Amino acid sequence: MIPSSVLQKISSIVGKNNYLDSQEDKIVYSYDGTQLLKQLPEAIVIPQSKEQISQILKLANEENFAVVPRGSGSGLSGGSIPVENSIVMLMTQWNKILEIDSENLTVLVEPGVITSQLHSAVEKIGLFYPPDPGSMNICTLGGNVAENSGGLRGLKYGVTKNYVLGMEVVLPNGEIIFSGGKSVKDVAGYNLKDFFIGSEGTLGVFTKILLKLIPKPETSKTMLAFFQSRHDAAETVSEIIAAHIIPATVEFLDRTTIKCVEEYTHLGLPLDVESLLLIEVDGRHSIVEEDAIKVAELCKKHKCTDLKIAQSETEALKLKSARRTAFSALARVRPTTILEDVTVPRSEIAPMLERIDTIARNHDVTFGNFGHAGDGNLHPTCLTDERDKSEIHRAEAAFEQIFDESIKFGGTITGEHGTGLAKKKFLEKLAGAPAVEMMRSIKQAIDPNAVLNPGKIFSVKPRCEGTLPRSREEIKKFEELGVFT
Ligand SMILES: Cc1cc2nc3c(=O)[nH]c(=O)nc-3n(C[C@H](O)[C@H](O)[C@H](O)COP(=O)(O)OP(=O)(O)OC[C@H]3O[C@@H](n4cnc5c(N)ncnc54)[C@H](O)[C@@H]3O)c2cc1C
Repeated sequence: MIPSSVLQKISSIVGKNNYLDSQEDKIVYSYDGTQLLKQLPEAIVIPQSKEQISQILKLANEENFAVVPRGSGSGLSGGSIPVENSIVMLMTQWNKILEIDSENLTVLVEPGVITSQLHSAVEKIGLFYPPDPGSMNICTLGGNVAENSGGLRGLKYGVTKNYVLGMEVVLPNGEIIFSGGKSVKDVAGYNLKDFFIGSEGTLGVFTKILLKLIPKPETSKTMLAFFQSRHDAAETVSEIIAAHIIPATVEFLDRTTIKCVEEYTHLGLPLDVESLLLIEVDGRHSIVEEDAIKVAELCKKHKCTDLKIAQSETEALKLKSARRTAFSALARVRPTTILEDVTVPRSEIAPMLERIDTIARNHDVTFGNFGHAGDGNLHPTCLTDERDKSEIHRAEAAFEQIFDESIKFGGTITGEHGTGLAKKKFLEKLAGAPAVEMMRSIKQAIDPNAVLNPGKIFSVKPRCEGTLPRSREEIKKFEELGVFT
């Protein structure tokens, strides 16, 4: 428990109006998109300046409490879930677009700007910010940078890290730095800016983010292709890329997901198909027309049973909603939805999906699958009920096997959602003990008292102890005792 005298000091830093501690507020900020993980914070603060953030972090070091930065709480790995003895630092009110620089093609934003709001603002003036997570209408750019989020346009345009040019960060000790800048080239010293991307709120609180923009593509063409076999769909994707066409988007849905989406949206999707591909090509008018014709031919060559090509922007949005609503559509089916994001090399998508089916059958659990077929990022989604302990146990065992299989296929346990709390126990299997130890040493060097979002990605230290464990064996011992943050 944080002593009330300390909570009073915290409240006086941000002011009473920006300090919440009612039970209702604590419940609201006790979870994120990962439905099984929850922990109440001791208070929630809405800082009004970077100086206030700095003062709170300095106080956290003096008084031994933890600070958990939070954007919209849409994360899917538990990154913004409070830990023991913690306060939540809510960044959603930091929502200003500070400067669009059309000459240098950059935009300076506060971290609480909603991703799709940045899209609208820059597209109005012919510019483009490509990262588009499925959650883009609710998630913040601060959350995107902290998770290095991907999206539907990742295949052609990359992920968040490809667009971050710089950022202002309040470090765990309260110091404030700006790393990076508008210069296209800058190799002075260690590349600290990249170091904070994907740090999941554990190394600093972002207060400004400088992003790269590109010219908005002239036009785009969106289509939905339906297949009787997943193998045919996978072959189509491989052949599109082998034909040197890089679509902005190649997404897939499996039979279960198609059924749930149709029940939810009534888009008129066929229910007798195994797989659906959402494909979007973009760029200059002449090239897009050519690419769209070639893609359509390849879909037909691989036995696509039906092909819908959008004839207008409205129709394109309608077709895209088949993919964008996948998570919400699956989430309606059972009380609890566990969504993961294992990622394999593109060539291994079809065999990996076969393995997921077998694992689900063996554990007697229901999975819907969808994801980013272009970059091998799959979202196996278990439809379950957290009140049924035996089913949850089977779901967890199934996911453990799915992570193992993904590693065997040369893939990873998370392609875009982050490690957080949900996957920290699998990180060592993927990265190896020396790599995790190196990550822990970096955290320890920057945040020796483990005040900033401790216990995410990997365990750091028992909060009751003054000293950090020195060896892997010591860390394991603390983990077994369950006293590790
Ligand atoms: C329906 C749905 C679809 C999704 N689709 C995608 C997708 O396509 N691709 C994808 O990558 N993800 C996706 N996500 C996951 C999620 O939306 C992203 O991880 C997103 O970036 C989280 O943003 P947020 O503002 O909600 O952050 P939060 O969940 O609040 O926080 C996420 C992490 O960021 C840290 N953080 C937040 N703000 C700051 C800050 N200012 N400074 C430092 N750290 C900070 C937090 O501590 C936490 O570790 C989806 C989620 C949902 C619910």
